[in-house]
Order: sequence, then C-alpha cells, then structure tokens
Amino acid sequence: MNLKISALEYVEEVKNGNLSAEDFVSETIDRIKNVDEKLHAFLQVNSKAIEQASQIDKKIKSGDKVGSCFGMPISIKDNICIKHSKTTCASKMLEKFVAPYDATVISRLKEQDAVFVGKANMDEFAMGLTTEFSAYGPSRNPWNTDYVPGGSSGGSAVSVSAFECVASLGSDTGGSVRNPASFCSTVGYKPTYGLISRFGLISYANSIEQIGPVTRTVKDTAFLLNIISGLDSHDNTTIDNTGQDYLADIDSGIEGKKIGIIQEMAGEGTDPEVRSATNDAVSKLEGLGATCEDASIDMVKYSVAAYYTITATEAGSNLARYDNLRYGYDFPVEGFEFNSYISKARTKFGPEVIRRMILGGFVPSAGHAGKYFLKALKVKSKLTKEIHEAFKKYDYLVAPTVPVLPFKIGEKIDDPIALFLVDFNTVMSNLTGIPSISVPFTISKGLPIGIQLMANNNEDKSLLRSARALESTVKLPEVPI
Ligand code: GLN
Repeated sequence: MNLKISALEYVEEVKNGNLSAEDFVSETIDRIKNVDEKLHAFLQVNSKAIEQASQIDKKIKSGDKVGSCFGMPISIKDNICIKHSKTTCASKMLEKFVAPYDATVISRLKEQDAVFVGKANMDEFAMGLTTEFSAYGPSRNPWNTDYVPGGSSGGSAVSVSAFECVASLGSDTGGSVRNPASFCSTVGYKPTYGLISRFGLISYANSIEQIGPVTRTVKDTAFLLNIISGLDSHDNTTIDNTGQDYLADIDSGIEGKKIGIIQEMAGEGTDPEVRSATNDAVSKLEGLGATCEDASIDMVKYSVAAYYTITATEAGSNLARYDNLRYGYDFPVEGFEFNSYISKARTKFGPEVIRRMILGGFVPSAGHAGKYFLKALKVKSKLTKEIHEAFKKYDYLVAPTVPVLPFKIGEKIDDPIALFLVDFNTVMSNLTGIPSISVPFTISKGLPIGIQLMANNNEDKSLLRSARALESTVKLPEVPI
C-alpha cells in the first residue's frame, strides 16, 4: 500500500471505495512500529486508531454521512488536548495529565472523521527549535538521523515526512511549525493570528502563538484550514472567516504579483547553501510572472531579542499554574512550607523551561520592565508598522525559513544564544501576527531547505496560492527512510 499519498489523494481514494480507512490506518500503525524506534516522532500511539478507522469504513458501506477526512490518520502535537488522552507537553510536569476536553481543532477534525494516530513529540512546553528539549528524548530527522528535525513541533514534521501519518497539527509561537517543516521537507504554515482557535492548546506565549498544519502539500494545508479555522466562542481572539474556501483558486498563480526579498533575513549568518536556495527560489518566482526586488525591514534586527523577552514574560505567567496541586503530579504537602513546596514542584521542569521562567520573572519586574519588557513591546509595535508599510508595496515577502541547514543532534544544545538566533527569520511573523508558510524547496548535502513566504494579515488565501505556485516548480527526492 502506498502510504506516501497526500491528504487530498487519501480522501479521493477512500471516498471512491478504492481504499479502506482501516487498511490504511493499520499500515500506518505498522509503519510507526517499524520506524519510530529510530525517529521518536511519537510520545504515544493511539491504540484505538484501527478500530476507529474500521467504524468509518462501516459508515461508508452503510451509506451514512461521512466527514470530509474519511478516517485520515493525523498526528497531533502533544500540547493540544484530546479528551481522555494524556497531554504532556513533553514535560515530566504533565506526565500524568489527562485532558478533560477536546481542543476546538480536535472537535472540528473529529466531526470530519479524522483519526488521531498519536501524540507527537516536541520541545518541552514548545520552548526550543530542535526537539532536543523533550523530557522524553529527542526526535530525529528522517533525512539523516544524526541531525535534529527542527522544533518545537519536531514530532509533527518527522511523522509527516517519514509517512507515519498523512498530516499533523503543530503550534507556532516563534517558528515551531515552519522550522521543523523546513528541516524535514514538509509544508508548515502559521496562519494570521486568530484564524485558528487556540482553545485547548496549552499556552506558552498566547498573545502571538497559533496552531498550524504540517502537511505534504500546500493543498493539504488549505484542506485542513477549511476544517479547523474560523470563529470559536471559546477563543475570543478568533476571526470570522465564514464563506472562505482556501482550496478554491489555489492554482491561479502569482503572475503580476510583487514580492519583497527581506535582505536582513538572508545576510550574515545565513549558510551559503541556504542563500543560494533563496536566490533560486526568487528566480522561480520570477519565472512564474512575479516581480521580485530587495526589501528592507529594519526592525528585524531586534526581533529575536524582543521575541524572547515577550515570550519569557508570558511563559512566566502561563506556567505559574504548574504548582503540583492541579495538574496530576502528586506528592504530599506535609513537611513543606509554601515556597519550598513550589520549588520542589518546579524541579519537574527541564532546564530550558526553568531558564525561560527565571527570565520571565525578571524582565517584566518592577525596576526592570522599562529596560526590557516595555522596550520589547515597542519593538513589536514598530516592527508591525514597518511590516504594514511593506505590504503597501508588496503582495508577499520571501526569505529562507531558517538561515542554517539542519545541524547535528547535540551540536548547539549547550549554546542558548546560538539556538535563539536560528529563529531569526521566523519570529517576525509571530510578533506582527502575519501569516507565513514554509515550502519545501531543495535538498543540499542530503538535508532539506525550506523557503518562507509571508503575506499581510488576513491574506492567508492569497499566501497559500503563492506557496502552491512555488511548490509547483519543485521536484524533490524521496525521504531515505
Ligand atoms: N524557538 C522558539 C522558542 O523557543 C519558538 C518556539 C515555538 O514556536 N513554539 O521560543
């Protein structure tokens, strides 16, 4: 059986009776058994997945109404709640937490008869970009298992790229969908802030993060977006997009469009292979009839600093709730006074989470807020202004998704600043709320490189069209696993 088909192909095959959901899901589970010991994309595999798929086959046979996913196997990042399933955020802190409700994206996918094959590995509480900060061990890049798959949604990208599912959902606070998508050669998309409900996503930095699909094709992303996007009464930051069909006209191209190439994102610190891939991508976009020119977004140079200041502050407050009294990790209070109890509880966090929480206590504190947090907010608003100016001139912006090629597991783990800088090209979209997508573009030295396209707020449909156009110029080798 061909597990390499896209989501849309899967739907067609099952709908037309050429493929049974149960057979496909059961082969998918076999595939996970065969390769995941090496790759570690999954923290848990759903033991009921095959049974759930067989129920969908039964519905099809008996002529009942079937949802548009037709039993499609999807993996879900382990910071998104599925009712009655463990949701650990790859942390020891939530080792025993069983979600009491479904995230909105999950209930929408359930309504459309998706099958969740498992919970995908990630950096603890989505803090990181290599998946090495998972408390349960790193995921590995299927293109070369000595290398990181990117992160923090590393398990999502690995599972899609290594055919352990058809599609996945990740979350993107500063690049966590796009970065692993680029490193594993999948599509990874962060929508306009508010387009997808965050209800049931465990917060890291809620003012800028979004859930986003990881898929094999741009059309598959549009397909999933049609299902999971839009207004949600549980999340009052959501946008009403009633009537929007992200698949319609997706093939209509980018002829006549103007594209700015962000100079700050392809300069010093960019690997030569990545720079040359970006130049090739620009030529391809021009070949499709777009006009490309150099563009400058000056505030980009401060965006990583502002991002880590803002996200640490939000993390400090979001993670304060993990006090060992509410979310499933139990040891008795006897023998402790308040502070020593909380200190002991917090030892369940890994070192990266602790680093962020300490930083998050400091930067917004009285006496320091003016120097750090408020300055970071100023950068955010100036950057947003600059971006909106840029979109008066351009339809899209383009840059490499990540300035460097995937690196070896362990290579940068002890150097937080070096790691933070890998986020240089992705955090801008989160700080400004704009939609961005990483499109698989080439393989260099056996490792994938993705190209990032960005559009103005609420131009998601147009952005997907540009991504589809770029994707149509590319033919990539198959993952060697
Ligand atoms: N690497 C960034 C961080 O650690 C982005 C993470 C994310 O998008 N969740 O904050």
